[in-house]
Amino acid sequence: MRALISVSDKTGIVELAKEFVSLGIEIISTGGTYSKLKEAGVKAIEISELTGFPECLDGRVKTLHPIVHAGLLAMRSKPEHMKQLEELKIETIDIVVVNLYPFKATILKDGVKREEAVENIDIGGPTMLRSAAKNYQDVAVIVDPRDYETVLAELKSDGKVSLDTKFYLMQKVFMHTSNYDTMIADYLKKERKDEAFPETLTMTFEKVQDMRYGENPHQSAAFYREIGKKKGSIVDAVQLNGKELSFNNINDTNGALELLKEFTEPTVVACKHGNPCGVGSADSILKAWTKAYTADKTSIFGGIVVVNREVTKDMAKEMKKIFLEVIVAPSYEKEALEILQSKKNVRVLQLEDISIPQPSSAYDLKKVNGGLIVQTIDSKLLPENSEIKVVTKIEPTKEQMEDLMFAWKMVKFVKSNGIAMAKNKQSIGIGPGQVNRVWAASQSVEHAKELIGAQATNGAVLASDAFFPFDDCVEVAHQAGITAIIQPGGSVRDEDSIKKCDDYGIAMIFTGMRHFKH
Ligand code: 5GP
Repeated sequence: MRALISVSDKTGIVELAKEFVSLGIEIISTGGTYSKLKEAGVKAIEISELTGFPECLDGRVKTLHPIVHAGLLAMRSKPEHMKQLEELKIETIDIVVVNLYPFKATILKDGVKREEAVENIDIGGPTMLRSAAKNYQDVAVIVDPRDYETVLAELKSDGKVSLDTKFYLMQKVFMHTSNYDTMIADYLKKERKDEAFPETLTMTFEKVQDMRYGENPHQSAAFYREIGKKKGSIVDAVQLNGKELSFNNINDTNGALELLKEFTEPTVVACKHGNPCGVGSADSILKAWTKAYTADKTSIFGGIVVVNREVTKDMAKEMKKIFLEVIVAPSYEKEALEILQSKKNVRVLQLEDISIPQPSSAYDLKKVNGGLIVQTIDSKLLPENSEIKVVTKIEPTKEQMEDLMFAWKMVKFVKSNGIAMAKNKQSIGIGPGQVNRVWAASQSVEHAKELIGAQATNGAVLASDAFFPFDDCVEVAHQAGITAIIQPGGSVRDEDSIKKCDDYGIAMIFTGMRHFKH
């Protein structure tokens, strides 16, 4: 038997080659691999000796030779093939061990140049993998070092690799090469800064972990990382305490982080089932926590809390008093972490780059039965270069304006139809996911009254993720004591809403941008 070994990741290769030699398998290998084996005293033949052709062009051409490929592709069961090999004086190759140039690691390096990335596109490796895999009945092809053991065990016990294993190895090869090529295509697409949606959509993800279950216990699930994704997302967080993240934890935390990224000042966002339930901004993170917590002490129970400043000891003491599923912060004071770690169940995560936003070209994908709808993410808050338009006689005060922007950021991440109310940079009522807008407004008001008290809404502001189709939302707002409103505008009945605001002395601004979220 003959094995061709040509690997970039040389971990475990010497041990494997030694085992091959002791099993009487002859080894052929390429430049770097050959040197490594030779150094370790493992006997091997250099590829150039086999082909009678030197490795050339900086290693671009090493194994691309008919002697290699005919040796791999010849079907042993076809006398014709074997006869031709004999005539051509080519011997079969029965095992291939190849892993490819590290394209992924190269593109993940900071500031990598296109030339370097391109140089790391492996040519001969995938070609060999494909030849060997196509002829899987006769060739065992190992692309993943985790399979060394399996193949060795079979060789030792049976003197050959079973067809079942060879088929499994073949399938792995095509998964691997297709993934490798997709990574290249994705990288090149980003390099061209091509924002158009391609004819066929390919993206590469790698498994982070299997999960215990999905959205519900009877659904199975896994978590994948997008290859080449910039930092700042849930997948980059380091877990410092608690049980493994669940499917819902990851989904909800992701939503909470997206909202948090809108804020630069110390801010705390509490989320439940993908909707914010308490948000607070202040000049200190402890004060921001108090605002987020007191906004809705009920819903935060079992919720997700994300924070854009270091968690202090005092804050940790407060957080410890209630049950939280997940806490994410850029860092923790030593004592703060000890306090939080004293609760076994709370998942404490550190995400240093918590404020880095997603690039505006990032895709937002939604799976539908039989297809996929794709859009760019909702990366904007307000339209570029357009001034916010005050449409009422009364203009918002500076404080109201700050609260309006606070509420507008919040409502962008509330499921539609969404209404969010705020006062002094604190959420005071959120009406998510209603099937009509006036219900969302009423729910928001009811929540505020129930959770903070009847006076809570007096002097508060209200944000709506899409326009008011009727003036009924203004009516609800007025009844609750709302004094300023922010909404996109654009309804045929805008004038009705504006007039009602003027009658009630409410200031209203139009943003000209809608933020539906489903
Ligand atoms: P080595 O370190 O042994 O010199 O090179 C090993 C790497 O070369 C492997 O990643 C393998 O996939 C790759 N390789 C093998 N043959 C060829 C070839 O003909 N052309 C190119 N570009 N890469 C090859």
